[in-house]
Amino acid sequence: MIPLVDLGAQYAVIRDELQRAVDDVFQSGTFVLGPQAKAFETEFAAACGVPYAVGVGNGTDALTLALRALDVGPGHEVIVPASSFVATAEAVCLVGARPIFADVSPETLTLTPAAAAACVTQRTRAIIAVHLYGHPAEMDALEVLARQHGLALVEDAAQAHGARFRGMPVGSLGTAACFSFFPSKNLGAPGDAGIVVTNDSLLAQRVRRLANHGRGAGEKYTHAVVGTNSRLDEIHAACLRVKLGRLTGWNQRRRAIAQRYDARLRAHPALTLQVVSPQAEPVYHLYVIRTARRDELAKKLARRGIATGVHYPAPLHLLEAFAGLGYRRGDFPVSERAAAEVLSLPMYPEMTDRQVDEITNAISQILEDTIS
Ligand SMILES: *Cc1c(COP(=O)(O)O)cnc(C)c1O
Repeated sequence: MIPLVDLGAQYAVIRDELQRAVDDVFQSGTFVLGPQAKAFETEFAAACGVPYAVGVGNGTDALTLALRALDVGPGHEVIVPASSFVATAEAVCLVGARPIFADVSPETLTLTPAAAAACVTQRTRAIIAVHLYGHPAEMDALEVLARQHGLALVEDAAQAHGARFRGMPVGSLGTAACFSFFPSKNLGAPGDAGIVVTNDSLLAQRVRRLANHGRGAGEKYTHAVVGTNSRLDEIHAACLRVKLGRLTGWNQRRRAIAQRYDARLRAHPALTLQVVSPQAEPVYHLYVIRTARRDELAKKLARRGIATGVHYPAPLHLLEAFAGLGYRRGDFPVSERAAAEVLSLPMYPEMTDRQVDEITNAISQILEDTIS
């Protein structure tokens, strides 16, 4: 059996370090708003090349709190790619604004700057660029567009910890960036966790206040605004600190696995592989191929003990949750076709080259079998 991800294989390597880190937190008696979260914020901000980071409860909260801190709310529009995980658009709705979907590039499935430009109106306040599957969006053109219209540019970097664009780490490319540490992400906590990073000290202060019941630094029962409770727990932060030290190595291994997949699948006429844009250094949160025979291929791989996933089976504008926005099938052809064709193959740093070969051999056999 080859799973899509194998967190057990990772745990086996770092078990002692994690257990010591967790034990230290229990010994300290501080579980929320303590030194581990503070230290992790400093270390993660440094990894992103920015001065400020605010740990929060999860990636969806990171997006929601960043939008609130940017004063995005009712009457406002936020441009969002039609290909993403639901949370990107959910966050826009949660602050009372309206997501405006735009199509993505057929090469990288990230937001097309031209499509985003066509969506700008008087009500637009922000663009959310999603670094889908760990491949950075076209941040230079999006930055120009945002600057021209005075819009905030928010990075949804939930799948892209450690990725780079023109040599710059994601997290440093917009007004603010939001990360998730859901367990299966490239950097994962033992539960839900997230973070907002930014170059803007005032914005960081506002996120921190909103995430902590509207309290400012050092305040206990002073609540200047209606906030919420969304903080990075000490146990999560302590574990994330252990893992952050290994992220670069894990991402390197992900890239090597992706290169091996690429080399062995490239010749297949039935498959479309992800294109890496020349400015991008992706981190392959997912390794995704596209084929018109997706469902058949997934079923036959499963029979051979090879797990796969579909990220995601429907573009955002066709989800029932957003039916009220009035979009229809046909509105975003690239995103719609991707949803019908994408297939995620097993991808985790502990995978062996032999497992990759087993998977690519199985794919070749399945595709050749049914042609003849
Ligand atoms: C995982 C993910 C999120 C949400 O993160 P959670 O921590 O699960 O709330 C947002 N956007 C994208 C692209 C994601 O992959």
